[in-house]
Amino acid sequence: MFSYRHAFHAGNHADVLKHTVLIAVLDHLLEKDTALTVVDTHAGAGLYRLDGDYAGTSGEAAEGVLRLAEAAATAKEPLPDALARYLALVREFNRGEALRVYPGSPFVAQHLLREQDRLKLYELHPTDAKTLDGNVAQLDAGRRIAVLREDGFGSATKFLPPPSRRALVLTDPSYEIKTDYARTAAYVGDALKRFATGVYAVWYPIIPRPEAHELPRRLKTLATKAGKPWLSASLTVKSSRMATALPGETVRRPGLPASGMFLINPPHTLAARLRPSLARMAQMLAQDANAAFTLEHGG
Ligand code: SAM
Repeated sequence: MFSYRHAFHAGNHADVLKHTVLIAVLDHLLEKDTALTVVDTHAGAGLYRLDGDYAGTSGEAAEGVLRLAEAAATAKEPLPDALARYLALVREFNRGEALRVYPGSPFVAQHLLREQDRLKLYELHPTDAKTLDGNVAQLDAGRRIAVLREDGFGSATKFLPPPSRRALVLTDPSYEIKTDYARTAAYVGDALKRFATGVYAVWYPIIPRPEAHELPRRLKTLATKAGKPWLSASLTVKSSRMATALPGETVRRPGLPASGMFLINPPHTLAARLRPSLARMAQMLAQDANAAFTLEHGG
């Protein structure tokens, strides 16, 4: 059984990137009335407490959404559009000034989806699946939201294509098992064969590991071979090098330094919408001089 619990990481810089992109994509897709299906192959628990035990243990939100909120409150310039939208959405889950609750991808999506849309949530971990079930039950969403305690890689393609032929698929594994990288590429490859016009979004960590570097390349090859447009965005907040220890000190591995989002069939407006927000994220969430962003697109 895997040990990854997203609650430790909720609201960190990777979530800021991932959920800002997710909202920008959904905003665009929801401009059309036709029903949209969102498939979240690795959903997590759905809602997280930022002041709870898990989040408090590593305090990753302190260097992510909490830092962003604090910086935004004193910034001279307003936040760029997509980033402002992200922060406003997180605030909608919180009453008052302090951010205590953080919405994961299932709740970001459900918050934006309409009556005619559908949300399919996969979560394999028994504890998180139970929590997700409980959180979704509060919404009284009926058939609009389905929680599946199944392998997201295994069966999520069964919803593709949906009857309306409009879908966004988010694949956001924990990558704690090395094979998650290859399974992600294989899943997107299969899904693309079944439903070539779906929008696919994959989050991945940027860490010194060959599989992690290989994944965006493989996704780009899949998109290019299928003749589909793609977009790749990344956010780095610090160097990936090990911290230098003083004599007698334990060498500590720094936390996640960077991550990326790779999209196939992204909205054509996405790159222009994201660019200023990525630049501001890199500036506001910088932990050292290596902070930066990249944004590429093609096809
Ligand atoms: N997408 C969520 C968000 O943005 O709020 C975070 C998801 S977290 C990074 C990854 C989740 O996938 C974990 O909760 C883990 O238990 C779950 N998981 C791991 N392997 C899975 C699989 N094969 N199928 C479905 N869920 C899986």
